[in-house]
Amino acid sequence: MFLKRDSQGKLVRRLQERLNQLGYESGEVDGFFGPKTERAVLRFQQDKKIDADGIVGNQTWQALFAEAMPETVTSLDAPPSEALCLDIFGDFRLAGWAEQNLVRCDLSEWKDALSQVYYKTATETIKIFEHADWFGFRAHRFVVPKLRLAFKNLTERGLSNDLKTFDGCFNPRLKRGGSTWSVHSWAVAIDVNAAWNAFGQRDFEMSEEFAACFEDVGFIWGGRWSKPDAMHFQYCLDR
Ligand SMILES: [Zn+2]
Repeated sequence: MFLKRDSQGKLVRRLQERLNQLGYESGEVDGFFGPKTERAVLRFQQDKKIDADGIVGNQTWQALFAEAMPETVTSLDAPPSEALCLDIFGDFRLAGWAEQNLVRCDLSEWKDALSQVYYKTATETIKIFEHADWFGFRAHRFVVPKLRLAFKNLTERGLSNDLKTFDGCFNPRLKRGGSTWSVHSWAVAIDVNAAWNAFGQRDFEMSEEFAACFEDVGFIWGGRWSKPDAMHFQYCLDR
């Protein structure tokens, strides 16, 4: 685990706070590792006779905090708990977060099987995966490989026609009726076939086979919750 130019999140905040405290001016504590933070790290490293590379690994962290650097991840083998989402997926409220973290979940490989998928607004029906030069949607870069596997499962298992609507992925908002962030805020959840699987609906239409395409690659399905949200698949453990 390293913190370096363009890193962001809680650990960067702690780093900036500490540098400022020690008199290494790293600018506003904004959780974003920009040029000013990098210069502060370099000066600190030079003073401490650490290899001055502007990158905060365990040695530099130790010198700053007199403790080991907290374990965090740079890619994901399993869905994290909700408490870790800010650290792992970054702070979606920061300027530049979307540009750095939202990438194309390209589905062109399965375009024929998925060409029917649409999204209905109040005034129009659009083919939501179709863009001028690509086919798919945007999601968090850590989760895109998992999402692609899930869509691959759908097509290989002959279930792609069961996917009728794609109702969104990235949507920074609070949970329904709650004060914590929806995992859609990090673009690590998707909603599909919403019209037939409304929030709270017990006799939803989503099949076990369909859900398994996502669950088999680590997604948590809202259809299993006591108050079902059967349209919803997320790469985060907690409800
Ligand atoms: Zn959802």
